[in-house]
Amino acid sequence: MFNEAKRYIPGGVNSPVRAFKAVDGTPLFIKKGKGSRIVDEDDKEYIDYCMSWGPLILGHAHSRVIDAVKKALEDGTSFGAPTRKETELSRLIVDAMPSIDKVRLVNSGTEAVMSALRLARGFTGKDKVIKFEGCYHGHVDSLLVKAGSGLVTLGDSAGVGNDVIKNTLIAEYNNIDSVKELIKSYKDKIAAVIIEPIAGNMGVVLPGNGFLEELMEITKDNNILLIFDEVITGFRVGYGGAQGLYKVKPDLTVLGKVIGGGLPVGAYGGRKEIMEQLAPVGNVYQAGTLAGNPIATTAGIETLKILEDKSIYKELKEKTNNLTNSIEKITNENKKMKNDLKINKIASMFTLFFNKDEKINNYKAAKQSNVGMFAKFHKEMLRNGIYLPPSQFESCFLSAAHSEQDIEVTVEKVDNVLNNVENHPS
Ligand code: PMP
Repeated sequence: MFNEAKRYIPGGVNSPVRAFKAVDGTPLFIKKGKGSRIVDEDDKEYIDYCMSWGPLILGHAHSRVIDAVKKALEDGTSFGAPTRKETELSRLIVDAMPSIDKVRLVNSGTEAVMSALRLARGFTGKDKVIKFEGCYHGHVDSLLVKAGSGLVTLGDSAGVGNDVIKNTLIAEYNNIDSVKELIKSYKDKIAAVIIEPIAGNMGVVLPGNGFLEELMEITKDNNILLIFDEVITGFRVGYGGAQGLYKVKPDLTVLGKVIGGGLPVGAYGGRKEIMEQLAPVGNVYQAGTLAGNPIATTAGIETLKILEDKSIYKELKEKTNNLTNSIEKITNENKKMKNDLKINKIASMFTLFFNKDEKINNYKAAKQSNVGMFAKFHKEMLRNGIYLPPSQFESCFLSAAHSEQDIEVTVEKVDNVLNNVENHPS
């Protein structure tokens, strides 16, 4: 099937990380999913910790989401005219995030980031944007520099001209001085600082104490907009996203993944006076034939309505802690692996880093990981029926559908695999 796909699709995939290149393997072709499980075209079942890279916080094919989508389909798939559903999804987002007065719906995270940057430039009248090493914000041209996710393995993209990146400035994650220096060197030229408030695209990396607060203060003092890219973290680490957890208010927020409940939705929102620079009110243009599509918004609305019962987040956190604490225990008891495996985690996100560093708090530290070892681990886990994201530099995700039994099985498999996979030199 992969060979057949390669005949028609570059590399056989429609998104590079799916190709399993970073783990030296070939991708599975997935036939169906239900709850925490996926089934491949060979009818082999896996416990899934990728969950479509984050959107499926309720699990695969959640019955309420599927029923709502089926019902919505009967009424037609797209109108290119306003529907009440767009208002409903927007209201749910605005109510969940106090920093957002108004929100625009688009079709992907990439589109949302691209539009948010244009808006920030239009609003401030400035051009430069600071991003952080190891953060990924979709395949927006100007942000494909020192980016995370698939680019950690593949390197910077060709086809991005110097003119496009000349306004991109790079800071170091968790290093506030690196931001201060750039602001000093490019005084009155910086439109925005964009950041994953919890990084997920160099593996999970958490913001250090006070880092986000300081970022908020210095951007405010210098008339720079602070953009939180919460495509992964929005409605994932809590109903109010990372900004709700850390109590920090960005000027603009970018969303995706969970707000589409597994269908293509992105969004960006923020303070009213910024958002009203958008056409048709203001003169920053952004549009979309399928933006706010009724089927996609239905899946998003149904997902958020279920998540409004915030007990789901408490359970997700407990399950993630059970799993990661058990893996830490196994590692500590394993003579070969002791000190070689580090776990970064928050809420229902975690990364197992094959890394000797004490603390993995930025891109440099994450890059020290033993990717050869990760590849072996990944392959063996897959053989044992556990599907992990196919790269060291990604987050694993739990869903509400993962059971205690799933976790027990996973822990047992990790134990077996770590005992059998021989240590690989870095
Ligand atoms: N921002 C972040 C933080 C992401 O993780 C991603 C995708 N993984 C994007 C933006 C891009 O979203 P999409 O793939 O929907 O374009």
